[in-house]
Amino acid sequence: MIYLDYQATTPVAPEVAQAMEPWIEEKFANPHSPSRWGHEAAAAIEVARKQVEKAIDLKGGNVAFTGSATEALNWALKGTVEKAPKGRNRIITVATEHAAVLDTCEWLGGQGVDLTILPVDREGRLDLDLLERELDERVLIVSVMMVNNEIGVRQPLTAVSEMAHKVGALVLSDAVQALGRVELCHGPDLVAVSAHKIHGPKGIGALWMRKGHEPAPLIHGGGQEQGLRSGTLSPALCVGFGAAAKLADERCTRDFDHVQKLWKAAVHALGPGWIINGSIAHRYPGNLNIRREGVDAARLIADLRDIAFSLGSACASGSGRPSHVLRALGLDYRESRSSIRLGFGRYTTQHELVDACHRLAKAAVEQEKLDA
Ligand code: PLP
Repeated sequence: MIYLDYQATTPVAPEVAQAMEPWIEEKFANPHSPSRWGHEAAAAIEVARKQVEKAIDLKGGNVAFTGSATEALNWALKGTVEKAPKGRNRIITVATEHAAVLDTCEWLGGQGVDLTILPVDREGRLDLDLLERELDERVLIVSVMMVNNEIGVRQPLTAVSEMAHKVGALVLSDAVQALGRVELCHGPDLVAVSAHKIHGPKGIGALWMRKGHEPAPLIHGGGQEQGLRSGTLSPALCVGFGAAAKLADERCTRDFDHVQKLWKAAVHALGPGWIINGSIAHRYPGNLNIRREGVDAARLIADLRDIAFSLGSACASGSGRPSHVLRALGLDYRESRSSIRLGFGRYTTQHELVDACHRLAKAAVEQEKLDA
């Protein structure tokens, strides 16, 4: 298999698997129990927490572990609404956000929160003038992602944060596709990340919270994570996340340079006839979302079963619905249906990527001939 679906998930790094092994095989103590073994597990979790915080590299806050980035985003939004000062009842977000943000915001809208979903331009970028016009003293949260999962487009989070803070609003950023891939923007008060997008294990995420802006708990119980997120932590998952974060921190520039070379090679190998969806200038280059007139993307996936790539987000691919992100860019139904996402990263070789792109281009031309 040629794996080109790095936005859906990433292969677990060998260093991560090795770090996790003892915590799966022998060291099974509950990290919240007072025994010597419990203390050892708790200490390992604290090392992992520091490693994740170092990779995030934002000042003035801490990380709490969660079961996923989806949970972290739900917590950030719902827990902040719960603590909202009187008179602040508005959330502003963007049409291209991940479902973990959009669906949570819609749900909160049903609970009485005043929700504004801002459009993006043809390139997938948020218009800051539009945001400026919407900001007022009633805004509680501005939620904008750093790097889009479907089209790789980056949003200007530092500027967004400065503007939101002027009216006293908090900024939440989904940095799931940004961590380890680009330098995180400074400014947000709440940042959600996920281990499995940085070569760590699935089933663990984290919420970075600026001191004083911790959301009210979403999950109640044993009072773990300073009473903010109850539930026994998994030392194996935390240690795996920590090891992945350490690697991401050490290798960020090297991985980025590699991915940039891969992008150039892929664009060249695909040849003419393909259009890139989303901004090229403001983009993480490990995401190549492309379309081609007349191509049926679902058929391409069926024709090339040994290449793992996708139609958009893993969630959108399963639903059969056209991607809300591509629609937000202004693509019509046909254009969305002829779009595919190639995602590559640390372990992708140029040889396999070029091979996959040649085969994709050939399969697309064959489709055109059959349909002619
Ligand atoms: N946000 C973005 C941008 C994502 O790409 C994903 C995963 O697809 C998530 C949130 C959800 O992350 P998790 O799988 O940890 O719930």
